[in-house]
Amino acid sequence: MKTSKHITPDELGFYGEFGGAYIPELLRPAIDELLTSFRSFCFTDAFRAEYLDLLKNYVGRPTPLYFAKNYAQKYGAKIYFKREDLCHTGAHKINNTIGQILLAKHMGKTEIIAETGAGQHGVATATVCALMGLKCIVYMGEKDMERQAPNVQRMQMLGAEVRPATCGSKTLKDATNEAIRHWINFPDSYYLIGSVVGPHPYPQMVAYFQSVISEEIQNQLHENGLKIPHKVIACVGGGSNAAGAFYHFYDLEETALIAVEAAGEGLKSGKSAATSILGSPGVLHGSLTLLMQDSNGQVAEPHSISAGLDYPGIGPMHANSISTGRTTSLSVTDQEALHAALECSRLEGIIPALESAHALAALPKLPFLKDEIVIVNLSGRGDKDMNTYQEAFKNL
Ligand SMILES: *Cc1c(COP(=O)(O)O)cnc(C)c1O
Repeated sequence: MKTSKHITPDELGFYGEFGGAYIPELLRPAIDELLTSFRSFCFTDAFRAEYLDLLKNYVGRPTPLYFAKNYAQKYGAKIYFKREDLCHTGAHKINNTIGQILLAKHMGKTEIIAETGAGQHGVATATVCALMGLKCIVYMGEKDMERQAPNVQRMQMLGAEVRPATCGSKTLKDATNEAIRHWINFPDSYYLIGSVVGPHPYPQMVAYFQSVISEEIQNQLHENGLKIPHKVIACVGGGSNAAGAFYHFYDLEETALIAVEAAGEGLKSGKSAATSILGSPGVLHGSLTLLMQDSNGQVAEPHSISAGLDYPGIGPMHANSISTGRTTSLSVTDQEALHAALECSRLEGIIPALESAHALAALPKLPFLKDEIVIVNLSGRGDKDMNTYQEAFKNL
């Protein structure tokens, strides 16, 4: 196990001042069981062998590290795309659900619960539950179910039960409340969280399962006779694809780590999800982290054109790493992301997910030295965003 202070929390799950496990006492035994099982099982050869076999033969890893030569020419640096968009189900999320489903099976669990906003994590969870023959219940805000109907249909086709969350704003945070309530009522079920958020040990565990991304980047650079990247760029919703892309580079001072958040309609518009800039410390989803809240501590309703970045918090490891200056955060507006998505489609013939387009939109904002090695983590593909793209570009 890697023990960098950036990725390994202390005994109580804290990264600096952020993290921990702020959960109802009723869940303490379930969380303790999870922590013990994660530690005793997920670093064994038996686990690694099964995990890596599924990543290779089911997910399609390693994903290519693609030299984007048209971008390189335009921006004057050696720009590479890590092609997570080519993973089974279309994004990096499956790396984590494969890891956790193996853990759940090892723990003897038969029922998996999850919550989802846009439906991407729900689909990745329903997929691995189908693969393992486990019961799957996904909580989703009623409003999100309407907005993301195709993903609801995917989950149902995969055999999952999608349960609407009908309280509050009927979106992700309400679905999260429902999932936690379910877990309290049925502590024997396995709660499968989709990003580096939630109570300890979830952030550490999800980062570990996503770390395969930077492990591959390191190997692929070596194969090309290159040593280390100068910049690694990833978008951040909760922060799992960024955690995976940064993981093995945290202790290399020469590598700049750049986390890109959604500025939505602008940082001062009140419709944004730029948590590291606009947030303050508070407890969200079981951990102490940076979150967007009003003066009464009410969690603010976030906004981003990209459903995967539309989250009012940020994983505690990123909150810490940004606060200490190890990671630099940038923010990108809806319009800048749309522009970047079109640019990538036209320059490289790759239609990126709107989330990944935020990472690409950081390129024009950054200074590059000639021959700098720059990695952009292309977290997912754009098929799911075609309605938004069509609407935005209808006058082209
Ligand atoms: C869900 C999602 C994200 C955001 O989640 P992180 O945990 O921040 O990685 C980014 N990109 C894509 C394609 C996604 O589906």
